[in-house]
Amino acid sequence: MKIMVAVKRVIDYAVKIRVKPDKSGVETANVKMSMNPFCEIALEEALRLREAGHASEVLVVSMGGTQCSDTLRTALAMGADRAIHVSTSHSLFPLTVAKLLQALATSEKPNILLLGKQAIDDDANQTGQMVAGLLQWPQGTFASKVQIDKETVGSVTVEREVDGGLETVKLQLPAVITTDLRLNQPRYATLPNIMKAKKKTITQITPEQLGVQITSDLEILEVFEPPKRKAGVIVASVDELLDKLKNEAHVI
Ligand code: AMP
Repeated sequence: MKIMVAVKRVIDYAVKIRVKPDKSGVETANVKMSMNPFCEIALEEALRLREAGHASEVLVVSMGGTQCSDTLRTALAMGADRAIHVSTSHSLFPLTVAKLLQALATSEKPNILLLGKQAIDDDANQTGQMVAGLLQWPQGTFASKVQIDKETVGSVTVEREVDGGLETVKLQLPAVITTDLRLNQPRYATLPNIMKAKKKTITQITPEQLGVQITSDLEILEVFEPPKRKAGVIVASVDELLDKLKNEAHVI
């Protein structure tokens, strides 16, 4: 079985986001970038499935500018076997990424396509669902447990986090799975594996080679920070609280 994992390079989760002065987007120059945390979880799950003997190859793919290869190198150091970088300087929206993943899945024929449930930069939470729709593969989104079925050959059972609790679905392979926070704890790349990863190949490919035109119906008009919250006040009594809610906040 082959597992393909989509990993996105995003601003590190610990960095305070700054909006560019011209409001065209957020500042990424001289900012620490990392693998999207949900993609790390997706990769960790793929590696565990391979280590458990369910998969023979873990392929990682990333779309974006030249620096994406750093993220792929990290993925190789964590244990992925092979990497493909779809190189483009265009802005990518979820539907375009889904089309690129569809093209890669059609040529690479993975049994499972693993993605993060969302990328923490745009918080879109769309790519996995869109690529499943394009490929017409079943999808198990927000996975908190993934189990390859022994009794039913060619299927996977996914426990997913939904608003009301947990839902269990059985998917026929090939399938798309997106990962939630509680699925696993990703490993760190060890120094020997970082050294070994330098020798692994990252194949460069363009969207044109995949037959995908990068166009979008979406345009970012303006990016701005949310309004600053006003400081709270401590009230001396319930009566004062009621008075403020009624006469200042006008909520009762
Ligand atoms: P999103 O729908 O943008 O929130 O992203 C969900 C998931 O899609 C991410 O966790 C990645 O697995 C995948 N993804 C989105 N954009 C990219 C990209 N540029 N390169 C690789 N994977 C991506």
